[in-house]
Amino acid sequence: MARRILDIGAGHNPFHDATHVVELDIKEGRERGGNQLIVPRSAKLIVGNVKALPFRAGSFDYVYASHVLEHVNSPDFACQEIQRVGSAGYVETPSPLLEQGLALQDLDSAEHWTHKWFVFAPNKDLLVFEPKTRQEVARFCSCSDGQFMQEFFSSLDMRSAQHCFRRAAKTTIFYWKSAFGVEVRKQTLDCRKDLRVCRFRGMRMALVASCNDPFRLHRLLRFRKMFPQSREIFRKYGHQTLLALSRSV
Ligand SMILES: [Zn+2]
Repeated sequence: MARRILDIGAGHNPFHDATHVVELDIKEGRERGGNQLIVPRSAKLIVGNVKALPFRAGSFDYVYASHVLEHVNSPDFACQEIQRVGSAGYVETPSPLLEQGLALQDLDSAEHWTHKWFVFAPNKDLLVFEPKTRQEVARFCSCSDGQFMQEFFSSLDMRSAQHCFRRAAKTTIFYWKSAFGVEVRKQTLDCRKDLRVCRFRGMRMALVASCNDPFRLHRLLRFRKMFPQSREIFRKYGHQTLLALSRSV
């Protein structure tokens, strides 16, 4: 039997191999930047909501949920629904690095608040949601990862700096098979008081890896020129990245 593949909230950028597309907003596209909805020719469009997917349990071999969970009010219900109807899948959202960096730069812009969550995966079986509100955007963990990120963000303008970082740093990508855990937190966690992992550890690791990517050397050198203070922060926290190269290449 042919594989049944569901794409939830694909908007203007659907997966070409989807057999079914679920979309809440088929007209306005307010949350996809006004872009027109596109449905692959082979796929069936169903108007519906991720909170209660109009399918029987186990209807799909694979479920794509790309850039949708950061919009929903109840990600725990949405994740339950995804697991109910599918036996494996892929979740993608903007990373906390991108979300927090952009929002901090410009707290008054309405566009930041259509994304309601920082989404990250502290391990391969768990997806964590922390609220993205004005208050939470300004909050940092007291651990060294949180302090590093706070200083890093204050050293640059993320709106232009984001183009220097690789996609892996700017997106949260999560693959699951049969099931995954979901944790929806009420606020940004302080990992020194609570034994769970804070989001800043992953943000720092992704950022440092991006600044060590030789394929992005040109962009990194441009970044270093634009934001010399950022380089100092890497140095202060003991990171030997390509930003520390002594000569231009
Ligand atoms: Zn922490």
